[in-house]
Amino acid sequence: MRPPVLDPLFAPVSTLPGIGPKIAKLVAGLVGGQPNREATVADLLFHIPHSLIDRRHKPGIAYSENGDIVTLDVIIGRHMAPPRHSKAPYKIMAHDDTGQITFVFFHARRDWLEKTFPEGERRIVSGKVEWFNDRPQMVHPDYSLKPEEAAQMPAIEPVYPLTAGLASKTLQKAMKAALEKLPVFPEWLNEAYLQKTGWPDFSEALRTLHAPREREDLEPQSPYMQRLAYDELLASQLALAMVRANMRTLGGISRTPSGTLQKAVINALPFELTASQATAIKEINEDLAEPTRMLRLLQGDVGAGKTVVALATLAQVIETGAQGALMAPTEILARQHYASILPLCEKAGIRLALMTGKDTQKERRARQEQLDAGEIDLVVGTHALFQGSVTFKNLGMVVVDEQHRFGVHQRLALSGKGQGVDVLVMTATPIPRTLVLTCFGDMDVSRLTDKPAGRKPIKTVSVSLDRLDEIIGRVGSAIANGQKVYWVCPLVEESEKIDLAAVEDRHRVLEHALRQRVSLVHGRMSAEEKDAAMSDFKSGLTKVLVATTVIEVGVDVPDATIIVIEHAERFGLAQLHQLRGRVGRGDKPSSCVLLYKGPLGETAGARLNIMRETNDGFLIAEEDLKLRGGGEILGTRQSGTPGFRIARADEHADLMEVARDDARLILETDPELKSKRGEALRCLLYLFGRDAAIRLLRAG
Ligand code: ADP
Ligand code: MG
Repeated sequence: MRPPVLDPLFAPVSTLPGIGPKIAKLVAGLVGGQPNREATVADLLFHIPHSLIDRRHKPGIAYSENGDIVTLDVIIGRHMAPPRHSKAPYKIMAHDDTGQITFVFFHARRDWLEKTFPEGERRIVSGKVEWFNDRPQMVHPDYSLKPEEAAQMPAIEPVYPLTAGLASKTLQKAMKAALEKLPVFPEWLNEAYLQKTGWPDFSEALRTLHAPREREDLEPQSPYMQRLAYDELLASQLALAMVRANMRTLGGISRTPSGTLQKAVINALPFELTASQATAIKEINEDLAEPTRMLRLLQGDVGAGKTVVALATLAQVIETGAQGALMAPTEILARQHYASILPLCEKAGIRLALMTGKDTQKERRARQEQLDAGEIDLVVGTHALFQGSVTFKNLGMVVVDEQHRFGVHQRLALSGKGQGVDVLVMTATPIPRTLVLTCFGDMDVSRLTDKPAGRKPIKTVSVSLDRLDEIIGRVGSAIANGQKVYWVCPLVEESEKIDLAAVEDRHRVLEHALRQRVSLVHGRMSAEEKDAAMSDFKSGLTKVLVATTVIEVGVDVPDATIIVIEHAERFGLAQLHQLRGRVGRGDKPSSCVLLYKGPLGETAGARLNIMRETNDGFLIAEEDLKLRGGGEILGTRQSGTPGFRIARADEHADLMEVARDDARLILETDPELKSKRGEALRCLLYLFGRDAAIRLLRAG
């Protein structure tokens, strides 16, 4: 299956010199790769240096700046050995024409120091200069060579992102061996495009990045980075286009019901649809009427009212006798969806069920039987559940809520659960167009651009944590006025215990200060406990809900009007926007208090400013891209663009568009990837781990 030319690159990294099982684990953590599988040589090769050390920098001692890595041509002076058993460092003086420097060593062997730095002799020494009390010093120089050996020192060394326990020398050595395994690849890029851009071929680009000559070589816009970024984008666009083409050939079912069930749902709503809700419903109805499968993204800012669109269009499919599924990313959200659409379903006559990981075996079996018998029209559950063993009598449409990392694999798994299943992906994250392309490919998009009538913009202020008492006082008077308040505490992954303590602590303080019961929700509670706390808050039994970010996604309590976000400086923009979207859902004015702990860093300060200035999710997403790159927008922790090793949504947006058109053209002219270029493109798909799509060629 895999082109044999790739074999050397798919060997595990432990086949490289210097990498045993333990180091292999560290490398896997560092370079990503597939879970539960050892990292491959290819994974390692895509680990690109982030900077370089230029040992050609020879300013002379006096002109070496603090923190610079420099190479010095010096005469070694006096050794100052510490007394025996002293922990003081060993110091060696040296000078050149411009000045004096001290080399500093901790726990170094004396005989080695005396041999390596003989007094009165000339040495070429390279390392980092630090100025201390107006004097330069160098702690543990990287190199010390006789003048005639100076050529042994690499002029330029790549600097890799590292992880604890992995030495840079180990990585460099393994990388060198990995580069030697690079085969000669057939060219997969279009000849004319290659000419036009002047890019190097794949192997040359990779070799150059691992042995950069200039800092600019490593910039996103260098020809080497552009070449690899384009390759990666093309692989991803091609795979997505193949999945799409496959979905089309498998065929969908044209659904043209009378629309009475949809009308029943809409009539059951206690409000009028917004114009863009109506448009989105119309667009989706048209997709459903087509004999091809639907693959559509429903994009709308928090509070825009996506759930209603989903339910109305699910009704259309259900009217034809098929079943629908609504998948939510979390247990809490699945339950909430269920609770909020239940009254509408009851009125419209849709048989609704909830399935979550918390169901007992018995409940699960009973639901499954009803699903198989067609006694359930619509099931709400978590993603995990649907990726498992659930089966349907006649699944017609799946709605995936708030799903950002929905890969090709999952989409394939889903499609297998029914014939010609239509898929609607809903996202509350206002993803800029470039990211839609990277993550979802060339999907149709419906946008909810207007908010339900009567919504007021949320007033946002940022306040230092020093003024906590004052804020608690204001919360007190707000609830005395009948308002409801969310109080969000941050969750820092590294120290779950501390966070738990912090949120429980805040809960206690608020109960005490406000002299009433306050609800509490955090990730360690059971589903029942969470439900109970949420419903107390929803019903108004409690006026304040203290929560970790479990409320971030989708929680809907329309009469909550204040949200306090503690340690707002720790949150990303997208996350802040999601959180803020928990209020401003009714017709009353709402506010958001960003409580920060100073001093604020530059990025954190910029984030809070943007939050104060705008309520516009799209604007915030664009700003977020600028501040942080794509990772944060999609709520992932890694920097860069999720799912991509080289390409970046912010830096390579222009290439993305070209790659999409390129992929489309390729599949038009060579749908089976059989031509010479097609064969080469198969290599590319494997290289970037997009080969799952190749299986479709045979199936289709
Ligand atoms: P999101 O797009 O964030 O998922 P929801 O679907 O949860 O938004 O809707 C947010 C709130 O707005 C819900 O309480 C919902 O009932 C309400 N809503 C939805 N559409 C409208 C509308 N057209 N007019 C008034 N309220 C609406
Ligand atoms: Mg929602």
